[in-house]
Amino acid sequence: MHVLADIAYLAAAALFVLGLKMLNRVRTARRGNALAAVGMALAIIATLATHAGLSWSWIIAGLLAGSVLGAWLARAVPMTSMPEMVALLNGLGGLASLLVGLSVFWSEYLHPPFAGGAAPEFPLAQSHAGGAQWALTVVLSVIVGAVTFTGSLMAVLKLQEKLVKGTPIVLPGRHAINVGVALATLALGAFAGFVLAGPAAGTALLALAVLAGVLGVLLVIPIGGADMPVVISLLNSYSGIAGSMTGFVLNEPLLIAAGALVGASGIILSQLMCKAMNRSLGAVLIGGFGAGGGDKSAYKNVKSASPEEAAMILDGAGSVIFVPGYGMAVSQAQHVVKDLANALESRGTNVRFAIHPVAGRMPGHMNVLLAEADVPYDKLYELDRINGDFKTTEVAVVIGANDVVNPAAIDDPQSPIAGMPILNVHEAQTVLMVKRSLSPGYAGIKNPLFERDNCLMCFGDGKQFLSEVLQELKS
Ligand code: NDP
Repeated sequence: MHVLADIAYLAAAALFVLGLKMLNRVRTARRGNALAAVGMALAIIATLATHAGLSWSWIIAGLLAGSVLGAWLARAVPMTSMPEMVALLNGLGGLASLLVGLSVFWSEYLHPPFAGGAAPEFPLAQSHAGGAQWALTVVLSVIVGAVTFTGSLMAVLKLQEKLVKGTPIVLPGRHAINVGVALATLALGAFAGFVLAGPAAGTALLALAVLAGVLGVLLVIPIGGADMPVVISLLNSYSGIAGSMTGFVLNEPLLIAAGALVGASGIILSQLMCKAMNRSLGAVLIGGFGAGGGDKSAYKNVKSASPEEAAMILDGAGSVIFVPGYGMAVSQAQHVVKDLANALESRGTNVRFAIHPVAGRMPGHMNVLLAEADVPYDKLYELDRINGDFKTTEVAVVIGANDVVNPAAIDDPQSPIAGMPILNVHEAQTVLMVKRSLSPGYAGIKNPLFERDNCLMCFGDGKQFLSEVLQELKS
């Protein structure tokens, strides 16, 4: 039976790797997800089959509760709240690791010969057959789990901007405080794991969980909204590391492998996002970006267009590039964008979609929305492939994108987003900028594109405005 389980674990690990690889492309992402789910099902079955004395009622109740909750969340959570949901799920991964670390310690600790409250004579590190390794993994599982849990909860609150503001919260002397709390956490961890004897080890572990939880909050509060997706991906990576630690604690090789895969992919994703914003991971983690609260300087010479005027401009255009951003997700305009693109194509217009790697609030956000509206993949162009074509494009229609088309990234070396690769929509003959106001985007900075001669602001909700444009075109 154990050989079969090992084969199942190996197959599951291979399916995870394959699934991750397929998540790399929109076209194969769904299948990749399904493959990884099959791998997880295999792993669960193999684990249940090889562990004797399990309480089936608890396991079935847990599976049912988790499945019902997951299915409900998948249906109920809107696309715009996906980052919060991902952050919350990361947090729960961290909490699981924390609880496993604590409960394994207590179950081992209360196990004979220590049962009944009798204090072990040796430190935690020696109170178990695995000795130092066991203690190290329990302690790390508690630290990484607690940091991931509270850090992720703080990320959710910052993204929601209800109880906690989204802009950086910069405490005086925060670097010294963070280093101090991090060192204290490590010291307490070493103390709990290797030095402390007797029942106090349990108290020390609980204190360690609290201290590491405080560290998680401190690490996330100075990070501004614009950097939050990077932080979420990094916390995703932490939750993988926490899972790996749990795997060591429970001596489960598959959990170690799966956690390592999540940990590595989270780090890779964080770095890809940093590259797309021309920021370093270190700079993101130090935080403070966007602390100014947004550039409120007034715009001059802004021109606007009504849906009727926008329709007239589009009517005669030979080439159009749509540039979606976060506002398209907010207004759920993807279907009307697709209808508009179809209407233009039927008039002979060359229509394409330009996708910036960090448009929206999570990687692939725009791809997912456009796929939902059945926009063919071959119409979607990544930044490198389409940026040279704006010069020869008649109309660029920007739907709720702002930072990713901000020419200050190129023109203003002092800009907080200087050097970030942007979509060069300003080079098109005409830019139709569909958004509700002159408000800044996530980075909270002014966008000089709004004042350019070739830019027409199309004020309104993305879906509403483009629906009216479509109606005008059809009439
Ligand atoms: P931005 O956040 O720059 O701008 C979005 C714009 O959408 C706002 O200016 C807003 O203007 C407009 N908007 C909001 N609601 C609506 C609506 N209902 N109808 C029309 N417009 C609307 O978005 P971008 O996609 O351009 O840029 C993404 C930002 O997120 C960047 O700063 C990027 O660095 C950051 N980021 C993204 C990551 C990712 O993975 N995607 C990762 C890391 C960072 P108004 O209020 O006037 O309508």
